[in-house]
Amino acid sequence: MSTVLQKPIDYLKGVGPNRAQLLRKDLGIHTVQDLLYFFPHRYIDRSHYYTPSNIPNTTAEVQVKGSIIDLEIVKQKRGSRLVATFSDGQSTMELVWFRGHQWIQKSLQSNTPYVAFGRLNWFGKKCSIAHPELELLEDHEQRKGNFQPVYPSTESLLKSGISQRVVRQIMIHLFEELQGSFQEVLPAEILKQYALIDKNRALTLIHFPSTQEELAKAQYRLKFEELFFLQLQLALKKRNHKLKIRGIPFPSLGTYFNNFYNNHLPFPLTEAQKRVIREIRIDLKGEAQMNRLLQGDVGSGKTIVAVLSMLMAVDNNMQATLVAPTEILAQQHYKSIVELLKPLGVTVGLLTGSVSKSARVPLLDQLASGELHILIGTHAVLEQPVTFHQLGLAIVDEQHRFGVAQRAKLWRKNKRPPNVLVMTATPIPRTLAMTAYGDLDVSVIDELPPGRKPITTLHGYDSKRLAIFQFMREEIAKGRQVYVVYPLIQESKVLDYKDLMDGYESIVREFPLPDFQVSIVHGKMKAEDKAYEMQRFVSGKTQIMVATTVIEVGVDVPNASIMIIESAERFGLSQLHQLRGRVGRGANKSYCVLMTGNKLSHDAQTRIQTMVRSQDGFELAEVDLQLRGPGDLMGTQQSGILQFIIADLKKDADLLKTVRYAVDQLLLNDPTFEQLENQVLRQALALTQQGKSIWKYIG
Ligand code: ADP
Ligand code: MG
Repeated sequence: MSTVLQKPIDYLKGVGPNRAQLLRKDLGIHTVQDLLYFFPHRYIDRSHYYTPSNIPNTTAEVQVKGSIIDLEIVKQKRGSRLVATFSDGQSTMELVWFRGHQWIQKSLQSNTPYVAFGRLNWFGKKCSIAHPELELLEDHEQRKGNFQPVYPSTESLLKSGISQRVVRQIMIHLFEELQGSFQEVLPAEILKQYALIDKNRALTLIHFPSTQEELAKAQYRLKFEELFFLQLQLALKKRNHKLKIRGIPFPSLGTYFNNFYNNHLPFPLTEAQKRVIREIRIDLKGEAQMNRLLQGDVGSGKTIVAVLSMLMAVDNNMQATLVAPTEILAQQHYKSIVELLKPLGVTVGLLTGSVSKSARVPLLDQLASGELHILIGTHAVLEQPVTFHQLGLAIVDEQHRFGVAQRAKLWRKNKRPPNVLVMTATPIPRTLAMTAYGDLDVSVIDELPPGRKPITTLHGYDSKRLAIFQFMREEIAKGRQVYVVYPLIQESKVLDYKDLMDGYESIVREFPLPDFQVSIVHGKMKAEDKAYEMQRFVSGKTQIMVATTVIEVGVDVPNASIMIIESAERFGLSQLHQLRGRVGRGANKSYCVLMTGNKLSHDAQTRIQTMVRSQDGFELAEVDLQLRGPGDLMGTQQSGILQFIIADLKKDADLLKTVRYAVDQLLLNDPTFEQLENQVLRQALALTQQGKSIWKYIG
């Protein structure tokens, strides 16, 4: 069987070398198996027929029964069209072709009953279908199933005569040839428990369903299978990892952790923070390397979790590092962590690109000798000359800017890989976390520290700018500070920069010296200038901070109470949410104003409305997933794993949960697939290892 599936499509009946070449080029269909898994992307209900006498006055896709009673070529300004008069004996309509005349003319039979299918066009009272699908009534009636599949196609395929009909015909031949003998790959118990139809039936029905119900069953079964093998692989990868990769265990908590926890916590921890710290503690105690993702909304208090985790390392004579995506954020972390740990006598260093050589040399020495306990920094920490004495824990803040390759660099910092904790403030929808990060353990801080006031979010139009300036003045008069953020999007760097500078100038005009001080920070500035301007804002010397998204992550100025986001329609939801999280950090009532033009696309409208309505990062993430799709949401890094043939993470969240449960149960009951009925999985998985795609095991 498998040998047949691996054969090139050239030799299939109805294909041939020319069509094979086109199918390869346009659709990436190389083998028989590729063809088998080339699923229709929609289906047309063809249970209803019309005749030229009773055509409905719509532009829907319909099927019409009739015969061709006349055929002529009509000259046009450019070229000509072929027009067939289609009749049911009482009335007529037209079937029209703008290309391929010769071939069509030759193949049409006059005065023979046909079924024509296509979209209706109306010119006054005259009705026509352009480039209809035509099938002899006799053939049409023989073909079973009113539910007609429509396959993805391309312009050039259609031009080359590979119509939907041709593809369907190829599929019919394919199934005749294969005789429907596809090997089942799911254990019988799972089929039974989840009421799944068998593989043979599912593959047949996905191509040739006759009812909506059949189609639904086929889709459910195939989606289940696709998600099942992905989840199973991820679970096995995670398990293997735990078995094989020995980490650096931190067996005991010592004086640093206990002293800090009992005497120096700046605030009581939330229940969610405590729970997450327990989860991390269990990981770090064990032999296996920790590989954990910590999700927590902006302001949920991830930093203190990081600090406590790092103390667990220091208590066990290990070093720890915290890596942040930007210089500003690294500096802030450094400052606040030094402050927190001051009473303990833990040594903390800062390494970023702008640390001078003279400061760097002693720092690296201390790091290599083990004198330095904790290193805070940016990507600079990952570079070659940075050597730890013994790195036990690496924490990465704001994962979405941090690539897999960078994580790998961290791993190589030690002979034995350090424990890794990845923290993200961009909540990821559950379905994505279970796939893109399915090989990590996940902790969630789903509770904000007490006393946070909700941030009022408003949609502001450019035309209301004066009112907004007035509002800013009032807040500043109360002693508050304001952010004004401009988008910086790669493609139009020059324009964006101009927007920012124009905006800055108009703010300075509205808020002149000496009453007001305005800071500006953007990516083109030197690091020390940025730091200086940030510092002026943090210390309250300036009241307004005009910035690009460099301030997006982490910056903490509790006194800032207004976040104004310019051209908000150009930001993604998660970015808007991140930016909004810069305010509402102190005791004051805070506001976020989303400035847009008057004309908004549908998606932009949805984004803005969602922001105004909700402050729940997980809810926003779900909406973002629906708007952008999984690939866009996760970036290119994980796009491979998110490419499904039939499953859809936007729609199949419930199914994914079911599948995950099935996988967990299976691995609990029979982790090495000893039971006879589970042996199919061994075979399937063995083949998966060789192939690229999750589907390559089939056959
Ligand atoms: P994030 O998860 O966004 O990194 P931070 O760790 O920066 O959040 O915490 C946000 C703010 O909340 C900080 O000012 C921090 O000191 C404060 N905070 C964190 N946890 C608590 C808590 N349990 N109680 C009160 N304040 C807290
Ligand atoms: Mg943070």
